[in-house]
Amino acid sequence: RFIVFEGGEGVGKSTQSRLLAEALRGRGVDVVTTREPGGTPGAEAIRALLLDRQGPGWGARAEALLFAAARADHVETLVRPALARGAWVVCDRYLDSSRAYQGGGSGLDDTDILTLHRIGSGGLLPDCTVLLTLDPAEAAARVAMRDAGILDRIGGRAADYHARVAAAFRRFAEAEPERFAAVDAAGAPDAVHARVLAAVDSLCAA
Ligand code: C5P
Repeated sequence: RFIVFEGGEGVGKSTQSRLLAEALRGRGVDVVTTREPGGTPGAEAIRALLLDRQGPGWGARAEALLFAAARADHVETLVRPALARGAWVVCDRYLDSSRAYQGGGSGLDDTDILTLHRIGSGGLLPDCTVLLTLDPAEAAARVAMRDAGILDRIGGRAADYHARVAAAFRRFAEAEPERFAAVDAAGAPDAVHARVLAAVDSLCAA
C-alpha cells in the first residue's frame, strides 16, 4: 500500500505520518516513512536547491522540473523497491502537492504536471491520499517562521498563493473521493491521528 499525506503548510503532515506509521507497525505491517521533496540522498540534494533562500530562486517551470527530478530519484530508488518487497510506504507530500502548488499556486497546466509526474515516477499513484485540512490562521500559527511573514519553506509566496493551493487541494479531494480522505487537522495530534486511522482503514483496507 502507498499512503500519502497532503495539505498546506503547518497542518501536521509529518507528525501524522509518524503516528500512522507507528500504528501500522503495531499491527505488524512493514512500514517505510518518507517525504517529498526528498526521501533519498539525491532527492534531498534537490530539495536543498529548491529550499535555499540564498540561492538563485526558480521560476515556476524550473521549479516543477526540479520537483519531478526529485520524484524520479525517490520513486525509483526508495518507493518502488519498498512496495515491491511488500512494505507499506507512508509519504509526506506527493503528486497532489505538485498539482496544488505548481498548478493551483503557480498556474502551470494540470495536464503538464501529470505528464511530468508520468516521466518522473512512471505514473505511480498513491492507493490512498489523506488531505489534512485546517483553518489558514491556525495553520500559520503552527508555522514557526510566521513572525517573519514567511508561511512556507520556499518563501516569497503570498497568502493568496497559499489560498489557491488550499482551494486546489479541496477540488482534487472532491473530484476523486475513492482516492482521497479529507481529515480535519484541528485539535491535539492524538485526536487527529484517530481520524486519520479511521480514514485509512476505510479507504485503504488491509
Ligand atoms: O512539506 P514541507 O514543508 O517539507 O515542503 C517543503 C516546501 O516545499 C513547502 O514549504 C512547500 O511550500 C513546498 N512545496 C512546493 N511544491 C511541492 C511540494 C512542496 O512548493 N510540490
